[in-house]
Amino acid sequence: MTLIINEDICARCGVCEPECPSEAIFQTEDAYVIDTALCNKCLSDGDPLCVTVCPNDSIHKAKESLFNKFSRLLG
Ligand code: SF4
Ligand code: SF4
Repeated sequence: MTLIINEDICARCGVCEPECPSEAIFQTEDAYVIDTALCNKCLSDGDPLCVTVCPNDSIHKAKESLFNKFSRLLG
């Protein structure tokens, strides 16, 4: 399982970035992105912090296979 930010519904409010304990969330020129190599999914069984604080419900869990497919499509 990995987490992705849905760019289409992300409001770019920046609330999630400082909440991440792993500094895995960063801003690019036109989006907020999660670095999956740094993300530890907050090491808990509950909802990850970024998912909890996002006011737009823009961060979703994705299965690894879907994430890899998505990444390939983005090139
Ligand atoms: S799940 Fe936790 S570690 Fe991963 S990006 Fe969200 S806040 Fe950061
Ligand atoms: S908290 Fe949600 S809406 Fe705000 S920047 Fe992060 S992902 Fe986007």
